[in-house]
Amino acid sequence: MKLERFRAEGPIATVFGAVNTGSWRQEYPTVDYEACIKCGTCQRYCPVDAITIRADQEECVAFAWDFCKGCGICANECPKTCIKMAPVGGER
Ligand code: SF4
Ligand code: SF4
Repeated sequence: MKLERFRAEGPIATVFGAVNTGSWRQEYPTVDYEACIKCGTCQRYCPVDAITIRADQEECVAFAWDFCKGCGICANECPKTCIKMAPVGGER
C-alpha cells in the first residue's frame, strides 16, 4: 500500500522543546530549596529539558523559562515534593 505524504500548510513545530512558550504558560514550578536534595530527578523527567541542576549554588534548580511549558511533571516526580506549581499572575 502506498502511503500519501503529509503536507502541512503554514508553520508547524517539529521539535516540541524548541517552542518558546512565552505568554501561554498557565503555571510555573517553584522550588523549596531547603528541602531539595539535588537528586536531578526533575531534570531527567522534564520533557523539554528546561531544568539545569547547579549543585554548587544555593538556588540549585534552574529553569529555562523560555521553554518551560508549566506541565508540572517535575513537581509530580520530585521525590521530596519540593517543587510546587504556582499560577502565573498570582492566586486564582
Ligand atoms: S527532583 Fe526535587 S529534590 Fe531532586 S533536584 Fe529536583 S527539586 Fe531537588
Ligand atoms: S513544568 Fe514541565 S516543562 Fe516546566 S520545568 Fe517542570 S517538567 Fe519541565
